[in-house]
Amino acid sequence: MESTGCCFNRLKSRGKLKSAKKKDTAGNEKEGSKAPNSEEAPSNVTRQKVAAAKQYIENHYKKQMKDLQERKERRNVLEKKLADAEVSEEEQDNLLKYLEKKETEYMRLQRHKMGADDFEPLTMIGKGAFGEVRICREKSTGHVYAMKKLKKSEMLRRGQVEHVKAERNLLAEVDSNCIVKLYCSFQDEEYLYLIMEYLPGGDMMTLLMRKDTLTEDEARFYVGETVLAIESIHKHNYIHRDIKPDNLLLDRNGHMKLSDFGLCKPLDCSNLQEKDFSVANNLSGALQSNGCAAAPKRTQQEQLQHWQRNRRMLAYSTVGTPDYIAPEVLLKKGYGMECDWWSIGAIMYEMLVGYPPFYSDDPMSTCRKVIL
Ligand code: ADP
Ligand code: MG
Repeated sequence: MESTGCCFNRLKSRGKLKSAKKKDTAGNEKEGSKAPNSEEAPSNVTRQKVAAAKQYIENHYKKQMKDLQERKERRNVLEKKLADAEVSEEEQDNLLKYLEKKETEYMRLQRHKMGADDFEPLTMIGKGAFGEVRICREKSTGHVYAMKKLKKSEMLRRGQVEHVKAERNLLAEVDSNCIVKLYCSFQDEEYLYLIMEYLPGGDMMTLLMRKDTLTEDEARFYVGETVLAIESIHKHNYIHRDIKPDNLLLDRNGHMKLSDFGLCKPLDCSNLQEKDFSVANNLSGALQSNGCAAAPKRTQQEQLQHWQRNRRMLAYSTVGTPDYIAPEVLLKKGYGMECDWWSIGAIMYEMLVGYPPFYSDDPMSTCRKVIL
């Protein structure tokens, strides 16, 4: 699994390099035919392409150097072990040859271009805005992974292509135990495929639906692990923006990992503010003293049942649930890392109470409650 992981990452870097080169050439040709004037400053698009190409190339060579170094280290370690052990010279020779053979096989694997045909699709485990997630088995090794399949036309239609690319790259770079590992990605005409480690424990949303509420100890444990996950992505200057129970997955030992890096667009509430603030102001009677729009009065038990009835539907809807999204993200007013800490607060509330703090009958009312 470990070596396949490394191999996948290398393959991915190679793919990135290729596509970056292609794009850069295309970009330059376009620029060249339109504006031969050498004094004209490059456009923003060109700058972005250059920066992306630079990053791809740097990553590629950094990885190559690291791999070479690691290969040398593996040989050194074996040589040292053999020197310390009482092994005949002939046997030492054989073992070193065996290591070299394995290294060569590993290199060959790295050169193999992965595709959907290399995997046997098994059970479907999730369905989202852009496609589906399935358990799959790599045919050559028998290893089991989660395959996320994203429909390209849908991502294009929603203007999410660059977003998805940038975030996929980040996911590949962050190497943390709290983050779901991405082993490789590839595409065909219709889909983009992400091959990730498979976490068999299900997601936090399902756990919460099954258990209603968690004990304080359980909540403390999961919140602690979410804090570690958020910290590890913030360290890479990345903001998740969409931390919610559906994106917190459990591994076979019950530890939690963060997944789904912003592949889903948050609910667009940018137009909500002006009209709804005035509506809210005019209808001050409809507002409670804490600033939340008045919802039908329900007992906690009724609210819990209502929430559970709607939960899965919300999760599978194309816009997703806004219950955990920070107000500044909903309003698209510019946001910082704090927005991820907001989400964790909402999740902790749900763990202890049974439904999230701004839950409402429909997503727009939830947005309104979050914003006000
Ligand atoms: P979306 O962008 O559609 O929300 P996600 O990546 O969150 O896609 O995946 C949807 C669901 O699929 C998750 O809520 C989870 O139940 C399941 N899932 C996703 N990735 C994995 C994985 N690596 N291991 C196990 N289950 C997964
Ligand atoms: Mg998700």
